[in-house]
Amino acid sequence: MNKANTYIEETEKVLLHTYNRYQIVLEKGEGVYLYDVNGKRYLDFAAGIAVQALGYSNEEYKQALKEQIDRLCHTSNLFYHTTVAAAAEKLAKASGLERVFFTNSGTESIEGAIKAARKYAYMKDGSNDHEIIAMKHSFHGRSMGALSVTGNENYQKPFRPLIGGIKFADFNDLESVKALVNERTCAVIMETIQGEGGIYPAEHAFLQGVKKLCEERDILLILDEIQCGMGRCGTMFAWQEYEVKPDIMTCAKALGCGVPVGAFVMSQKVADQSLMPGDHGTTYGGNPFVCAAVSKVFDLFEKEQILQHVQEVGAYLTEQLNQLTEKFSCIVERRGKGLLQGLVLEASTPAGSVVSRCLEAGLIVITAGGNVLRMVPPLIITKEHVDEMIQILEHCLS
Ligand SMILES: *Cc1c(COP(=O)(O)O)cnc(C)c1O
Repeated sequence: MNKANTYIEETEKVLLHTYNRYQIVLEKGEGVYLYDVNGKRYLDFAAGIAVQALGYSNEEYKQALKEQIDRLCHTSNLFYHTTVAAAAEKLAKASGLERVFFTNSGTESIEGAIKAARKYAYMKDGSNDHEIIAMKHSFHGRSMGALSVTGNENYQKPFRPLIGGIKFADFNDLESVKALVNERTCAVIMETIQGEGGIYPAEHAFLQGVKKLCEERDILLILDEIQCGMGRCGTMFAWQEYEVKPDIMTCAKALGCGVPVGAFVMSQKVADQSLMPGDHGTTYGGNPFVCAAVSKVFDLFEKEQILQHVQEVGAYLTEQLNQLTEKFSCIVERRGKGLLQGLVLEASTPAGSVVSRCLEAGLIVITAGGNVLRMVPPLIITKEHVDEMIQILEHCLS
């Protein structure tokens, strides 16, 4: 008997139908493997969409969470508590940015970043007509503010009017950004490596050019590191490899490795001239439970030397995917960095059908925009796991 059917039926009866889910009911995880309710094992190259950086069922992580549950989960932000300072300190230190605001999701961190940028500009000139430059093919979330800076017509269209003053430039085209800048521009927002849009890394000259432009005109650079950050590309944050520092950075996904937490982090300079008491808030954000997780995540990254590991295994994955690209004519191109990788497929080979075949064969991969097969595995995968993935994928592509 297939135990999954009952769960699927019950779920579809009551949840709002906003996802076409794969017909798999997951039950437990161990290391880089997931198991469904029928006991079938999957090698996981999706990590809950770049969340489970430390894989599943890490003992030390679980222990820290259990202890915090026994102590205290929530207080509201009307009081101080014992786990938030360490979590914020570790995030500030890792990013080199001074001031942290914890949110409950990536989307909310984008909302906060937009508000901080608008307030910063407002405090300078008192006007309410400031503009933000975002990128085409970007993804920043689904709330009205985050959707407003998400350069995807399909996602935006049914929900207009969105927030005003947003203009879209072409990613990796500095001239297209320059053409949109005027005296009202308060921020440029982009992912350092576009994820959902199809795995497009920012070119060095582009990001450096945008940074220079921002500095010249006192425009804030907001880098969305929600997917590409937290070690995924071999540095703690992807921008750290570009000799460019954002004024505001957003972070989520792997920040809590499974608990819902995000953050926006900014320089002291921006903090001093933007959000003040009364300007922003959250009931849950940065509560004792999630902060215990964030703190432990940073400790484990250090203890397990995750960055070094990603550099090694990321180079190996890149090499193996390049070989696969040579071998299969249905693969047009490989794009990405470290453990954020995309295989661009020919139109005649829909990425969605390859994903289905892989699932059948016990491998979880996902898609990204523009017929791309996306891989965002746990950062703890080994070369042997890469070999196992390549073997299954080769079989599914043949
Ligand atoms: C996932 C993602 C978001 C949205 O984060 P949520 O936690 O789903 O709200 C925003 N930006 C990028 C780059 C993402 O990958």
